[in-house]
Amino acid sequence: MDAIRSELPIYHQSLDWNDLFSTYPVPDVFEKTVFRWPRERLRQFQNKQFLKLMEVGWRNEFYSRRWKAAGLTPGDIRSIDDIAKLPAYTSEDVKTDQAEHPPFGNFHGDWNTLRGASPLKIQTSGGTTGKPRATLYGPYEWEMNGLTQGRAMYIQGVRPGDVVQIPATCSLANLGWCVYKGVHDYIGALPLTTGSGIVTSSRRQLELAFDWGTNAWCCFPEYLTQLAKVCRDELRRDVKELNTKSIHTFLGPDTDNSLRRTLEELWGCPVYDLYGTNEMGTAGFECREQNGVHIMEDCIYVEIEDVETGKPVADGQPGNMVVTILHRGLPPVIRYNVRDIARIVSTEQCNCGGCMRRMDKFLGRSDDMVKLRGVNIYPMACLSAIKSDPRTTGEWLCVVERHERDGVIRDEMTVRVEVSRDASAVDGLKEVLEKRLQGDLGVKVAVDLVRDGALAEAANLGREGKPKRLLDLRNQKQN
Ligand SMILES: [Zn+2]
Repeated sequence: MDAIRSELPIYHQSLDWNDLFSTYPVPDVFEKTVFRWPRERLRQFQNKQFLKLMEVGWRNEFYSRRWKAAGLTPGDIRSIDDIAKLPAYTSEDVKTDQAEHPPFGNFHGDWNTLRGASPLKIQTSGGTTGKPRATLYGPYEWEMNGLTQGRAMYIQGVRPGDVVQIPATCSLANLGWCVYKGVHDYIGALPLTTGSGIVTSSRRQLELAFDWGTNAWCCFPEYLTQLAKVCRDELRRDVKELNTKSIHTFLGPDTDNSLRRTLEELWGCPVYDLYGTNEMGTAGFECREQNGVHIMEDCIYVEIEDVETGKPVADGQPGNMVVTILHRGLPPVIRYNVRDIARIVSTEQCNCGGCMRRMDKFLGRSDDMVKLRGVNIYPMACLSAIKSDPRTTGEWLCVVERHERDGVIRDEMTVRVEVSRDASAVDGLKEVLEKRLQGDLGVKVAVDLVRDGALAEAANLGREGKPKRLLDLRNQKQN
């Protein structure tokens, strides 16, 4: 029979696979090569990819208009050394662009040209406030979304034949998809796409895990604590009986490793941190040394900038993470100020052999930053202190108020902390927390103890969306 050529945009014919994998190697090849490249060789690669990306950027309305407005011409950006000349943008700029040019904004190019030309996928931000922000993926971006997650989990120890349970629903949120693809397409492990606890109950998740031999998990940390509890209370078994090999999760601002220790004790296995967003896919991962989050630097170029001045900060100093995604053409992501606070902890080669820079755990959102007596404070930085005493419920809310006395204005922060209803005595708790917080934050704050559940509403606990840790009352009229 004569071969009839399909006129459909078939996914597997829409990519040059050899070109893709020789540029961005698959997990085991990556681990032995690019991951270990000396800094100079990596920089050359980044520069080459960046210059290709700039051509895409200049053809894109969203960028070219911003860059021209900043007085730039294509000749001004001759290498990655010039990158900081380009103005950064934030998610607000993308939201505005998408509102002005519906449905997906100039950011994505012309929708009428895009649609139907090649297979497309769409994922969104969490959408904790207002409508979620859409990001499109062409075949290249979609493959990289899985490939980067596969690399991270391979380096964290997942191997062919492992059974990886993924309690995250494949929805408009990216996590379930990217872990499924990473594990299935790029490691050859078996993904159990059980979805969240709403799709498959916690009890059923555990029964399947015991029956089918789950030996690795990837989901959010809160749910892992829930699973351990359900295992104990409903299955009358210790979750350690699963003999889990590894847990791959998002530890967030767990700077003193208390959350990691809790999970490792509950599950009896190592717990590894991951970092990513829907635009970046998997941008960073801990290796088995657990000594910082390696940035996947062949894919993502990271700058850390001072929150107020926008100037680069020295290694070791916290600042806004500004990212350029070197492999993304749809949409290009060039100097995106994520407004996540990050800090480079090492630029040295790691004991794992990797040379890619390591950053600290996610340190919170700069939108939440409060300046108190010249010190920048991130409400998330209270987490370790609050969790350090078992008499708290682990929940808190920072309240900032402006006081005026004799014409002098002074901002004060009070940290409202919930006391567990099981706590027998709270003697000295206020003082203990105030001392610890002063050490962690670098400035004196007051602690106000409140009853169990008192913060539920103000801190948005136990509901859809992320908890709120800051209540800023400074602009309210004082009576
Ligand atoms: Zn390492």
